[in-house]
Amino acid sequence: MKLSKKHLKTLKEAPNEAQLVSHQLMIRANLIKKEAAGIYTYMPMGYRTVRKISQIVREEMDKIGTQELYMPHANPAELWKESGRWYAYGPELWRIKDRNGRDFCLAPTCEEMITDLVKNEVSSYKELPFAFYHIQWKFRDEARPRYGLMRGREFLMKDAYSFDKDPETLHEAYMAQYHAYEEIFDRCGLTYRVVEADNGPIGGSNSHEFSALSDVGESDLVYCENCGMAATVERAECRDDVPVQEEMEELRAVFTPGTKTIADVCDYLKIDVKKSIKALMFVTYDIELNPADYVCVFIRGDRELNMIKLVNALDVPEHYIEFADEEEMGAETGIVGGFTGPIGLKNCITVVDSELVGTVNMCAGANQEDHHMLGVCYGRDYTGDIVTDVKVLAEGDPCPHCGQPVKHTKGIEVGQIFKLGTKYSESMNCTFKDEDGQDKFYWMGCYGVGVTRTMQAIIDQHNDKDGIIWPVSVAPYHVIVTVINPKDIVQMAVAEEIEAALEKQGVEVIVDDRDERPGVKFKDADLIGIPVRITVGKFAAEGKVEYKLRRESNHELVTKEEAIDRANALVKAEIYGK
Ligand SMILES: [Zn+2]
Repeated sequence: MKLSKKHLKTLKEAPNEAQLVSHQLMIRANLIKKEAAGIYTYMPMGYRTVRKISQIVREEMDKIGTQELYMPHANPAELWKESGRWYAYGPELWRIKDRNGRDFCLAPTCEEMITDLVKNEVSSYKELPFAFYHIQWKFRDEARPRYGLMRGREFLMKDAYSFDKDPETLHEAYMAQYHAYEEIFDRCGLTYRVVEADNGPIGGSNSHEFSALSDVGESDLVYCENCGMAATVERAECRDDVPVQEEMEELRAVFTPGTKTIADVCDYLKIDVKKSIKALMFVTYDIELNPADYVCVFIRGDRELNMIKLVNALDVPEHYIEFADEEEMGAETGIVGGFTGPIGLKNCITVVDSELVGTVNMCAGANQEDHHMLGVCYGRDYTGDIVTDVKVLAEGDPCPHCGQPVKHTKGIEVGQIFKLGTKYSESMNCTFKDEDGQDKFYWMGCYGVGVTRTMQAIIDQHNDKDGIIWPVSVAPYHVIVTVINPKDIVQMAVAEEIEAALEKQGVEVIVDDRDERPGVKFKDADLIGIPVRITVGKFAAEGKVEYKLRRESNHELVTKEEAIDRANALVKAEIYGK
C-alpha cells in the first residue's frame, strides 16, 4: 500500500481535552476522531487495529466452541422490563422511542436479548451446553464521557453467553472463558491482572475482572503478594479489627462545639480516631424515582465507606441512592448534621459496619447540635438494621486471607466474566426439558471484552515520547518502508520489491512514498508505531537498506534480502509464536 495514495492526517499536538497520553496519541496518530462526547469515528489506521483485536477475540472464542451470531442494537423495552433492568440500570441505559412511541433501548449488554432468543430457540437438554457470542457496538449514556475510549458512550464489545444445566457445568464454561481471556490479552501484548470483582448491575454470584495495569486506570485493585489474593477494591473483603477488651463506661453526652468532622472531634476530645464512629447519611429512591428510605451508615472513624458494598447490603441499584439532605432528613429521623450518632434514631435504616460489633466506649454524635456521646457500646446502646462489612480495604490493611499487608494498584478493565446463575432464566422464564421431561432453568454465564477500550489500554502500555509502539499482533501494519526520495527510480524499485516480497508472505506493508521531508516521515512512522521500519535511501543502488524496530533505538544497514527475512521472521514469531 502506498501512503501517498491514502489518507493519513497526523497532528503535532493533541487537543487540550485529551488528558491521557493514550488518548492524545490516538488523536495525533489519526486513529480516532471525535464526533460527539464519547462517540468516535475510527479512522483507517485505528480501525485496522480494532479489527485485529476483534479477530483475536473471535479466534479464541471459536477455539472453545462459542458460536458467533449477531443480535440487534435496538432492544424492545419489554425484555428489559421482564428482567427488571429497565428500572435498575438507571440513566446509563440509552432509551429511545420508535415513531409509534414504543420504548426501546440501545443495548449496553445483551443478557435479555439472548435469554429471550434461547427461550424460543432451544428446548432440550440434548443441545446443552452451548454458548453464543457477538462482537457488537454497545451504548452507555455516561454522565461524563471522558478519557477517549476508556469511558465512551459507543464502544465495541464482545459479549458471550453460556447456557448450562447445573452449577458444575457452568463452572466449566466459566473457566473455559477465563482461559480464553488469558490467551486474548496475552496475544494483545497486555500486562494485566485477573481480580475478583463485584457483579454490579449484571448480577449473579461470581465475577472476575481482567485489568490492564495502568497508572491512569479507573479500576482500583488490591492484591496480596503473600497469598495471591487479588480483587477490585469494590469487591475486596476486609478483616475486621478485634475490638479492644475493656470495661464498659457509662454513656454520657459531652459538649463539642463546632466539631463537625471526625478529625475535629477526636482532636478536641484528645481521643484516637479508632475510638470514634463516623456517620454517613443517604436517601434511596424507588423505581418511580420517589424517595424511598433514609439510610444512616456507621463505620469506624478511620475507615472509608465502600459504596458498592453498601448498595449490595441495601439491595438497591447503584443509581437509586445518593447523599441525603441532612436538614430534611433530620426532621424525619432525628439526625443532626455533623453530630449524628447511632442512638435514638427513627424512621431510617441503620447500617452498621461489622467491625463495630463488640466495640465499647466509642465516641459518636449525640444527635444534638454541638454534642457527642462518649462510652458508646455496641449491643448495649445501639445495633443496626443491617450489620455487615461496608468498608474499603485500604493499602496496608491485613489481607482477608492471610493477614499480610495488602497493596493497591490501578488498572483498565478490559474484560469481565460473570456467573449469572439462574437470575435471567428465572426472571424471563427460560427453561429446557431435562432427561426426565422436567422444565429446568438454565445456569447462565456472561463474558465481556471491551475491544475498543483494549486498543487504548494497549497504547497506554506501549508508547514512548515519540508515539505508539504497537505489538506486532495488533499493529495496523507490520512494516513501514520509508522511501527517502520517492523520485529516485532505484529507491522506489527497491521499496516495491520489499513490499511485494513481504506481502507474498502475508506481512502487511505500508510504503511511505509521500513527497515529504525524511524527518516528517520518520516522525510519522514513530507516531503511528509500526513495529518494523525499513528505510530505503542512498544505499539502495547497492541493494542495502536500513532495518529498525520501533521498540529499539538502534538501526542497522543490511541487504534488502536480509531485511525481508528478518521482518518476515519477526512477524511470524510474534503472531504465530514460531
Ligand atoms: Zn494474602
